[in-house]
Amino acid sequence: TRAISLRDVTKIYPRDVVAVNRLSLDIAPGEFLVLLGPSGCGKTTVLRMIAGLEDITSGELLLDGELANGIPPGQRGLAMVFQHYALYPNMTGEQNMSFPLKIESPGRDTTAQVRETARLLGIEELLDRFPAQLSGGERQRVAMGRAIVRRPSAFLLDEPLSNLDAKLRTRLRAEIATLTRHLGVTTVYVTHDQAEAMSLGDRVAVLRDGVIQQVSAAREVYQRPENVFVAAFVGTPRINLLRATVHAPLDGRLNIDFGTQRIQLPQPLSPDHQMLRVQMGREITVGLRSEAARIAGPQEMRPTEALLNGVVQHVEFQGHESLVHVSTGARPARVEG
Ligand code: ADP
Ligand code: MG
Repeated sequence: TRAISLRDVTKIYPRDVVAVNRLSLDIAPGEFLVLLGPSGCGKTTVLRMIAGLEDITSGELLLDGELANGIPPGQRGLAMVFQHYALYPNMTGEQNMSFPLKIESPGRDTTAQVRETARLLGIEELLDRFPAQLSGGERQRVAMGRAIVRRPSAFLLDEPLSNLDAKLRTRLRAEIATLTRHLGVTTVYVTHDQAEAMSLGDRVAVLRDGVIQQVSAAREVYQRPENVFVAAFVGTPRINLLRATVHAPLDGRLNIDFGTQRIQLPQPLSPDHQMLRVQMGREITVGLRSEAARIAGPQEMRPTEALLNGVVQHVEFQGHESLVHVSTGARPARVEG
């Protein structure tokens, strides 16, 4: 299991396409890191540079602290699993899985190693079948098996579940997390699906236009996004982002104007919010997660709450909860990207 470090790594494709822009990231041995970002933000490029499938334009890749920019892919001890699990159609599960081992040392008996890997993945009964006889989820399991059969020192997964239906995705992502932790192998997991990222990662690195926005624990990314992009990208339902103006409080309790409504925050500013002081009188963006709001009448207010009046527009019943759309007259903030 390996440490993977990227130092100030930039990738420029022909025609001056800057896919990755001065990216630095340290991934500890055995860590499960999720690389999250919208389509086209450079996730695959990062993985391919780590794997050695793509040249690094500038910057350094370190594997276990050693400069690895020039090491051929086959000598890096890494395994990569793609969105499109390219299994050989004319080979059984067993033959597909043993293929990397046979390439390494032709003529070797791979049965035991393939069996053991299949057992780990719970796919022993798939070994005799051809890819056409497997469901999407089963194929992806075999593809995972083929990737880990050599016991790579790190595992690079590029949206491995995006071709599967929602139910299977949820199940397989839990299996992948369990498996990689069991193997203790460093894993970089790429996804554009923020819910998947939240549920998987020890740490999540959020990427936008080739630039890292935030690297922290999933919970931290959700609760303390470092910028509006991260706030808006992460979380379902989407965070409410409202334009507002802040006014100087007399008693340390902040007044915030949302359009025609003014609310007073119930508590004095905590040190965390001191940054707001410099923005008094200026327009700011307020992020409000739906679970932080409660629907109540003026008489039902609790001392820790502030009241924002609104009119219910629409209620979405979602089984375990309902999503209530309320218009408050506040202007929504725009987020590009
Ligand atoms: P993601 O995996 O996050 O969707 P990619 O790493 O595939 O993003 O792509 C990042 C950017 O680099 C995109 O603008 C994409 O069009 C561009 N790109 C990717 N591969 C190539 C390539 N081989 N040649 C030129 N541009 C590329
Ligand atoms: Mg991609």
